[in-house]
Amino acid sequence: MTQSYDCLVIGAGFAGAVAARELAERGGKRVLVLERRNHIAGNAYDLPDEAGVVIHQYGPHIFHTRDRRVYDYLSRFTRWRDYQHRVVANVHGVEMPVPFNLTSLELAFGKEKAQRLEEKLIAQYGAEEKVTILDLRKNEDPEISALADYVYENVFLHYTMKQWDQSPEEIDPNTTARVPVFLSRDDRYFQDPWQGMPLDGYTALFRNLLDHPNITVELGVDARTRLTLHEGGVELDGVPFPGIVIYTGAVDELFGCRYGRLPYRTLEFRFETHPVEWYQSHGTVNYTVSEPWTRITEFKYLTGQELPDRTTIAKEISHAYTGAEGETPYYAIINPANNALYAQYRTLCSNLGQFYLLGRLAEYKYYNMDAIVARALSLCDDLLQRKE
Ligand SMILES: Cc1cc2nc3c(=O)[nH]c(=O)nc-3n(C[C@H](O)[C@H](O)[C@H](O)COP(=O)(O)OP(=O)(O)OC[C@H]3O[C@@H](n4cnc5c(N)ncnc54)[C@H](O)[C@@H]3O)c2cc1C
Repeated sequence: MTQSYDCLVIGAGFAGAVAARELAERGGKRVLVLERRNHIAGNAYDLPDEAGVVIHQYGPHIFHTRDRRVYDYLSRFTRWRDYQHRVVANVHGVEMPVPFNLTSLELAFGKEKAQRLEEKLIAQYGAEEKVTILDLRKNEDPEISALADYVYENVFLHYTMKQWDQSPEEIDPNTTARVPVFLSRDDRYFQDPWQGMPLDGYTALFRNLLDHPNITVELGVDARTRLTLHEGGVELDGVPFPGIVIYTGAVDELFGCRYGRLPYRTLEFRFETHPVEWYQSHGTVNYTVSEPWTRITEFKYLTGQELPDRTTIAKEISHAYTGAEGETPYYAIINPANNALYAQYRTLCSNLGQFYLLGRLAEYKYYNMDAIVARALSLCDDLLQRKE
């Protein structure tokens, strides 16, 4: 019976699953989790495909963090496979490390010129530093600004336009700032102290996370069919629900998109299985000047699965999200107009009682997995200190 639950969590991705576990275990609450899809794990979901190759259905997910609490917390639910992600950009057939680094510099310009540039860059910005392309472009030294132009054109511009269908200037500076030039020979994509992949995959991690006697998970249930929102609170199955509600779905959908849809980019994943051991040189190859896809990921690099005769890749193509059946909203398009639209929806939630928005959809922002785990833990810290 729904009346026997203390808390309701909508969505079984990282936000919902961590919150459910905390409320159940630390708070001793009986928690009902409603998940629209027929599986747990949200966008981190992984599974074997028809060829038996483990894939990430909603795009490649690599765990990395600097947050000790998050790493320790998740380590309760999984062991880790050591994996350091490396990405190369295919620039007219030459593969160079991304983020663009000192090795890329040499591949792009040859030893002699690269050495000269390296000295100048390190003198100005320091060794092992990350400098954004936007900052490099502002440099008055003609050789450095020419380098910035090269990187901008060959690694960043077309890739960004494919991803966002906007020029970098039109995009939120925070998004643009995420793309650095790295004055180092460290060719790992992330430098965080803890990085890797759950040894048995993300879905297994989520199974452990949600495996608690106080947690009930119902799959294939769109919470909107069970919830009624009204001034001061919510009803579950027509009965007032007095407990905590944590909502991790899209906030516009909760209100029938009454002010219009929040804009997103969606992704199309073209999965292909090939009868070879390896399809490409690295876990991810970005196509920064050619091809309609932004990148190709080969999952076996990430998962460590050993299969000598086959491999599965995903080509990733970015489109505008329309809200059509089966489309997934992936990346919020952060800009002042969209933030204002989001704020309108957020206001509608402010008089729903103990109703909390949590996660990449509900908060209309990009979170890495570690960041949303940290956010879920800290929300539960607050909720569990508060007396109901
Ligand atoms: C392509 C891609 C690659 C990424 N790669 C990385 C990476 O390498 N490393 C990293 O740290 N992060 C990565 N991320 C970010 C990562 O996906 C997010 O941090 C994570 O998904 C956030 O979890 P969440 O619970 O907020 O959202 P989600 O995982 O989307 O979970 C929300 C859940 O709520 C459910 N839901 C929504 N509405 C309803 C409803 N009405 N009723 C019931 N259920 C509902 C959804 O079905 C979903 O399962 C990537 C993101 C993308 C898009």
